Amino acid sequence: MTRRRWIADTWNDQRTTAALTGAQAAHLARVLRAQPGQVFDVVANGFLHRAEVSSVHDNEVTFTLHEERQSETALPLHLLLAIFKFDHFEWAVEKATELGVAHITPVLARRTEKHLSQAAAKRVERWRRIAHEAAQQSRRTDVPLIADPLPLAAALTATADTPTRLLLAEVEQQHTLRAALETTAADETLNNASIALAIGPEGGWAPDELQRFTDATWQHVTLGPRILRAETAAIAAIGITAALLQ
Ligand code: SAM
Repeated sequence: MTRRRWIADTWNDQRTTAALTGAQAAHLARVLRAQPGQVFDVVANGFLHRAEVSSVHDNEVTFTLHEERQSETALPLHLLLAIFKFDHFEWAVEKATELGVAHITPVLARRTEKHLSQAAAKRVERWRRIAHEAAQQSRRTDVPLIADPLPLAAALTATADTPTRLLLAEVEQQHTLRAALETTAADETLNNASIALAIGPEGGWAPDELQRFTDATWQHVTLGPRILRAETAAIAAIGITAALLQ
């Protein structure tokens, strides 16, 4: 039986109890009218448990945690996602979460529209909520880390230790994402290694940014001859990478 899954906001050290608070608690208490004794799947500190509701209040729903259940791990993927129109960006955050990425860093790219760059810091909490909801909905046991928006130089420093770093570049014509990943797989590192993928904004990466990636030894890769919207490119790239990681 597929039970609804919740990612707990708090838990005790022994992981015998956990709770939802704030908007999650209000939703479970008022909209879903949870009752003590109901059984759900609850993730506490990254561990999946069968759990029974022990008390219900509008601002807190508590659970007694029972046996731990087997759970999957996130894809070892770090997405550097240039900030683009917020509705499209949020769609990308939601879908990337469903597909299992571990980490998303929003990047203030040169061609990110100015008003979006200025508003980005205030949107991060919303992006984190979207990721949280998408993680629950897709039955993940973790929520991807959504970093604070960073300028490209800082994002490159933050990913300098990631073993495989791939820049999705619409101007690259030969070197495909698939070939780059297969070469990495041939080195037998792909299944264990983290992979960073960078996706540009609506106007693409500026020439000096492409150079920065090159200087930081990122491989430039293509998804084919068509120019994809940034969010399409992100989801296609995650899908291809996920398929090769299986
Ligand atoms: N500069 C382009 C233009 O206006 O013609 C469009 C950039 S595209 C909308 C946004 C981002 O999606 C790119 O920076 C790149 O990261 C990714 N992208 C789109 N199509 C791609 C392709 N065929 N191969 C690799 N990346 C692609």
